[in-house]
Amino acid sequence: MVEIEKLNKSFGDLHVLKDIDMKVYENEVVCLIGASGSGKSTLLRCVNFLELKESGRIILEGQEIDKKNNNLNEIRQQVGMVFQHFHLFPHMSVIENIIEAPVHVKKVKKEVAVKEARELLQKVGLQDKENTYPSKLSGGQKQRVAIARALAMKPKVMLFDEPTSALDPELVGEVLSTMKQLAQEGMTMIVVTHEMGFAREVADSVVYMHDGKIVEVGQPNQLFDDPKEQRTKEFLQAVL
Ligand code: ATP
Ligand code: MG
Repeated sequence: MVEIEKLNKSFGDLHVLKDIDMKVYENEVVCLIGASGSGKSTLLRCVNFLELKESGRIILEGQEIDKKNNNLNEIRQQVGMVFQHFHLFPHMSVIENIIEAPVHVKKVKKEVAVKEARELLQKVGLQDKENTYPSKLSGGQKQRVAIARALAMKPKVMLFDEPTSALDPELVGEVLSTMKQLAQEGMTMIVVTHEMGFAREVADSVVYMHDGKIVEVGQPNQLFDDPKEQRTKEFLQAVL
C-alpha cells in the first residue's frame, strides 16, 4: 500500500504539487490522468525519490520513504518504475539488462537471477530475445523488457509514466496487455496514461490532476461517465 499525505513540491517559484493526498491499496491499479504540466510525472518521481519532496509524507507498506530513513535504498527497491522512453542499457543484452540490478544491487546469485529473468521474459512474451540487444528490438518489445527489468527487483508497487506514449500505435496494445496481465496478477500499480480505454477497463480508481492538485477521484465508470467537477468534464471532453 502507498500512502501520500500532503505532498508538496516546487521547482523554484513553480509550485508543482499542492497538498497531494492519495492512497493506493494493495492489488489496486490507480490511473493518473491530467493535462500536460499538471504534475503527474513529478508525483511519480517523488514516490520513487527521483525528485526530493519538499514537505508531506510518502509511506510504502507502513515505512516512510524519506532521506532520514536508514533503509531508504531498501524501501526504494520496492518501487519499480517504467518510463516513456524505456531507458534500457544499450550495451547490454536483454537478459543482462534484467539481471543487472538484482545481481549488483540486491546481490542475488547470477544463476538465480538468470533463472528468474527467463521466467519474466516468458511472462512478457520475449523468451526468444534474451541475447538480443535493445537496438534490435521494436519499441513495444523494449518496453516489455523494461517492465521485466523493473519486475526483476520484486517490487511491491509499480509506477508507469506514460509507458505507451512513445510507441507506434500498432505496438501500444502489446504493452497494455502486459500491464493488464500484471494488474490481474495483483500487482499494485500507479499508471500515468492517456489511454482512457485502459484506464476504464483496468483501473480500480482514476485520479484527475489539474495544476498540481487532485481535482477528482472516482471509479472509472463514474469518473468518465458522470464526472462531478466542471474541470474534469472539460478535460474529458477535450481528450475523449
Ligand atoms: P506531461 O503530461 O507533459 O508529462 P506532467 O503532468 O507529467 O506533464 P510534470 O512533468 O510533472 O507534468 O511537470 C509539472 C510542472 O513542473 C511543469 O510545469 C514542468 O515544466 C515543471 N517541471 C518538471 N520537472 C521540472 C524540473 N526538473 N525543473 C523545473 N521544472 C520542472
Ligand atoms: Mg509527465
